[in-house]
Amino acid sequence: MAIQYIDQIENLNGKKIFMRVDFNVPLDDNQNITEDTRIRAVLPTITYALDRKAKVVLASHLGRPKGERKSKYSMAPAAERLSQLLGKKVTLAPDCIGDEVARLTDAMQPGDIIMLENVRFYPGEEKNDEEFARALADGCEIYVNDAFAVSHRAHASVEAITRFFPVVTAGFLMKNEMTYFEKVMTNPVRPLVAILGGAKVSGKLEVLESLCTKVDKIIIGGGMAFTFLKALGNNVGKSLVEEELIDTAMRVLNMSRERGIKFLLPVDCVVADRFSADAETKITTVQEIPQDWMALDIGPASVKLFSDELKDAETIVWNGPMGVFEMDAFAKGTFDMVSAVADSSAITIVGGGDTDVAVQRGGQASKISYISTGGGAFLELLEGKKLPGIKVLEEKGTK
Ligand code: AMP
Repeated sequence: MAIQYIDQIENLNGKKIFMRVDFNVPLDDNQNITEDTRIRAVLPTITYALDRKAKVVLASHLGRPKGERKSKYSMAPAAERLSQLLGKKVTLAPDCIGDEVARLTDAMQPGDIIMLENVRFYPGEEKNDEEFARALADGCEIYVNDAFAVSHRAHASVEAITRFFPVVTAGFLMKNEMTYFEKVMTNPVRPLVAILGGAKVSGKLEVLESLCTKVDKIIIGGGMAFTFLKALGNNVGKSLVEEELIDTAMRVLNMSRERGIKFLLPVDCVVADRFSADAETKITTVQEIPQDWMALDIGPASVKLFSDELKDAETIVWNGPMGVFEMDAFAKGTFDMVSAVADSSAITIVGGGDTDVAVQRGGQASKISYISTGGGAFLELLEGKKLPGIKVLEEKGTK
């Protein structure tokens, strides 16, 4: 069965919609939202429903309140920002379940919108508890999931809740995510190049193994490169190495060789005498990393090598920075790769929390075909996993 999207529902007029969104936005110490991409990303679905006179009940989590009501994790700032963006009143409910919520949602008129309080104020959310899910669904007629970034979690408002709705659908953000993902992984225009970076191999092993069956080239940067370089016999000094994964790294290298996949590792790097923004730094080849130094970024020759390999790419998928880009001294490799990917005429998809931050900071977001809102969810899709939140949408979708 295929996912049913909200625009496939004929009549939304007066219907009460439970819409799961991901408004897990970053806040500063004064509860001000520092970045509202996640709210903006769902506006098309919300306005679509409101324009068709639905009654919209929004649910989200924010932070990690661990099943307890904590005011610093209130949805209030998100509701307020949404209200500004819509130019319309968004009522914040005092809770996400219970009599007071029922009273508020019963009084809704067509075109009204309510934001429920943080669903993670109840332990039942993360436990995928059926009774909690039933309470959330109470009184609503249509379920819409537009929270791609939490769809890899079997949580009550994502998974169990779908059992209480005859009509289960997804929103436009989810549609974009799925459409682009299919473009890349199911039916890619080749050559398909994957760029992987970030700190560790351990979190990305399954992704690498899955990519080995699908892509034409793999480019590795970031801390994870040094486990591979060590496996190949290089002395990498104090660079990040996962000793216990050296054999596995070798297995992945052999697997890619057997499949005829080009596997590219950095040839040079920016090394530092300590992990600090004001460390002493220099550029060396990966064969010449000094014993007491650590590599914290890829070097210019690696950027050239990787960029050249992108020239014939028709599709590029990227997850994970090339270095410790949070510090200026080790950000150049990542930002140069942002430019190389942005300048490519290929379909370019960037996913994973840090990578989208790097692209935004590099000022090239508009030149990327698609920036996924999912971190873990994007990685799990790359691994070839079925995400619980998407599985239920398919099971209860259209024939
Ligand atoms: P991940 O969550 O696995 O995508 O890792 C992202 C983090 O990897 C970023 O915070 C970077 O600072 C870090 N990182 C990238 N390259 C290196 C490196 N060479 N050494 C240590 N950390 C790195």
